[in-house]
Amino acid sequence: EGIFGKRRNSKGLDLTDPVAFTAMSEARAGFETRQWQAAPLGAMRPDATGSAQKVINPANHADRVGMVVEATKDQVDQALAAATASGWANWPRGERADLLRRAADLYEANAAEFFALLAREAGKSWADAVAELREAVDFLRYYAEEAEALHDAPRGPFVCISPWNFPLAIFTGQIAAALVAGNPVLAKPAPQTPLIAYRAVQLLHEAGIPRDALQLLTGGPEVGRLLTSSVALGGIAFTGSLKTAKSIETAMAEHASPHAPLIAETGGLNAMVVDTTALTEQAVRDIIASAFQSAGQRCSALRILYVQEEAAERTIDMLKGAMDELVLGDPWALSTDVGPIIDAQARDKIAAYVAEREDRVIHRLAAPQGGTFIAPTVLRVSGIAEMPEEIFGPVLHVATFKGDELDKVIAAINASGYGLTFGMHTRISSRVRKLAGQVHAGNIYVNRNQIGAVVGSQPFGGEGLSGTGPKAGGPHYLKRFTRGAMDLQAG
Ligand code: GLU
Repeated sequence: EGIFGKRRNSKGLDLTDPVAFTAMSEARAGFETRQWQAAPLGAMRPDATGSAQKVINPANHADRVGMVVEATKDQVDQALAAATASGWANWPRGERADLLRRAADLYEANAAEFFALLAREAGKSWADAVAELREAVDFLRYYAEEAEALHDAPRGPFVCISPWNFPLAIFTGQIAAALVAGNPVLAKPAPQTPLIAYRAVQLLHEAGIPRDALQLLTGGPEVGRLLTSSVALGGIAFTGSLKTAKSIETAMAEHASPHAPLIAETGGLNAMVVDTTALTEQAVRDIIASAFQSAGQRCSALRILYVQEEAAERTIDMLKGAMDELVLGDPWALSTDVGPIIDAQARDKIAAYVAEREDRVIHRLAAPQGGTFIAPTVLRVSGIAEMPEEIFGPVLHVATFKGDELDKVIAAINASGYGLTFGMHTRISSRVRKLAGQVHAGNIYVNRNQIGAVVGSQPFGGEGLSGTGPKAGGPHYLKRFTRGAMDLQAG
């Protein structure tokens, strides 16, 4: 038995093991020029009126990864009707859990193909891709195990809307939770990453999940609106921007049944505090990972570093040096640390933000050509109050504080209204307790980086503008997908 009980987290792939890595790398090479397809998948009829679009590699625009056909309104209606009639709620809980475990094995067996898709469709480095597949597999097995203690009734068809930044892990996590709790699922992947979603749903079906219990609806905001304004929903699980979460809330208030929950996970203006007792080398290592890994395209990513005045010069100097060592480029290469921005629209938004603040740039790398890249950039600011919104890319803000200003820093961080991750580097244990006790954040990390929460041991989710909870990968998550005693009385 592992430390998590009967279940163990996936062991992933050791990138420093030359034998294992070479074998996986050769297997992945078989998918280097593969063209994938995505289309609505489930119980709906094919519809020739859906429009087909190219999916392009964000690191290399000459590389076409495949084609996607959007769902039509008619197909959305068919999918909802089929889900409602699916009878999935009547399957024994243990059998539903076993199907997730079988799917986890199939995901692992198809690792090379997923690594290729994660690199070519989502711009993920090797390290990010390995972590993402592990997380997806862990979600499947973790929720399968958690379902054993679940005795409440399902809610009904769940719409799961997932983001492009974790196109396999979050996509799978939402679906696995909704399904194992007994709800049929209508999954809408991000329009940027439909191909990996399609492949995942194929494997989930292959594992034995019926086609009417799990259906994929490809498309953009229009398909999202059709789904979220359905009347007969059991609930919606959403990860993405705060703006979209608000519009889903509005649509649900108008259309959905009164007790259908929205489980939303949105963004953050995540801070880290580094004081004079921090070990500079460790702090810099963790700042680099937190701000620039995944090109900063994580909702957990570090956005603003508060460094104590006396430590500012040595920390920033070392940070600049460490940034200069980062390799930017096509994530297909093992040497790449920082890959592309997901698409031109996202890239232009980040570029415009930095362009308006040219006078504040204290360090910046050079961006490669051929794809949508933003070079890691550091901007000087006076504090978090100056930051208008979450900038979803490799842009780190740095502010300084004086030894007696910690309370002000805490108040400013809390005043942002967000509360997703928070990091600190300090060797004073009373300060650890103070910061952890007073900063409003869902996930707080001490003397380490602040990304990459691990399923089952670091439940992930925020407070305030960062999300509704409950935390994903934690013991309370599945409950929200069921009707508790209170809901049964009200309904
Ligand atoms: N769970 C991820 C992490 O801890 C972030 C999820 C997200 O970006 O939506 O880094």
